Amino acid sequence: MAEPADCFDDVLPEALRFRAPAPLVDIGANLTHESFTRDMDAVLQRARAANVGTLIVTGTDLEHAEQAIELARRHPGVYATAGVHPHDASRWDNNMARAMAALYTEPEVVAVGECGLDFNRNFSSPEAQERAFEAQLGLAAESGLPLFIHERDAGKRMHDILHAWRDDISQAVIHCFTADRETLYRYRDLDLHIGLTGWLCDERRGHHLRELVSDIPLDRLMVETDCPYLLPRNLPAKLKGRRHEPALLPWIVHEIAYWRDISEQALAAATTQTATAFFRLPVIKEPQNG
Ligand SMILES: [Zn+2]
Repeated sequence: MAEPADCFDDVLPEALRFRAPAPLVDIGANLTHESFTRDMDAVLQRARAANVGTLIVTGTDLEHAEQAIELARRHPGVYATAGVHPHDASRWDNNMARAMAALYTEPEVVAVGECGLDFNRNFSSPEAQERAFEAQLGLAAESGLPLFIHERDAGKRMHDILHAWRDDISQAVIHCFTADRETLYRYRDLDLHIGLTGWLCDERRGHHLRELVSDIPLDRLMVETDCPYLLPRNLPAKLKGRRHEPALLPWIVHEIAYWRDISEQALAAATTQTATAFFRLPVIKEPQNG
């Protein structure tokens, strides 16, 4: 079956039909979220039209990881992660560990995660979170896969745990980084990668990130929507339904480039090169038709 042409439908208002100046990789798209089930093909088509041709779909528990793998099998340019989110860490047990280990042999799975620590909400106890996280670090070490990590209000503990594991794991990205400069520098010392979302587009709580983006080395920086969450608050037009989607990633690149004082083209190309190496993706070429 032929892929549909890379053009926009009328879901996004014209002011939100961006096109990135170089192909982008959205390293954090929660496309297994129920809000995407009814129009997945259109979402992916709009992403391609925006020059976001590669998507890493986040697997946050066993069920969603399996769904992410299914999506990756059906759609070119789509890959999956598989892990247990800290919110669900209390469900971690040996059966879960075995099931996850089996998924890491699937070619569509490019990272262990989303896993980590979230001491902001503590939906699972901190003890349960640490147990599940350490178990997944072990699986990452065994499989050699990189890690896709969630951390909220747990920067010090995250650093200490990763410091102990650093020589055993390959690479790790702190996705949706929102912490302070001290935490960023600690992560830099461990040679971690950093994922940035539209959080810095938020005038209420993202201001501190604007001053930090220049402190993230270009070869350690990747970009993500974390859709359907975190719709950028400063988009140039209103979006009905307020569901974030991969086609809006170029706006986040535009914002980061502005605060970093670098061209969008250079930032787009660098983040894609970094993501391609990090997730060991096939090299991404500019599509022939524009
Ligand atoms: Zn997260």
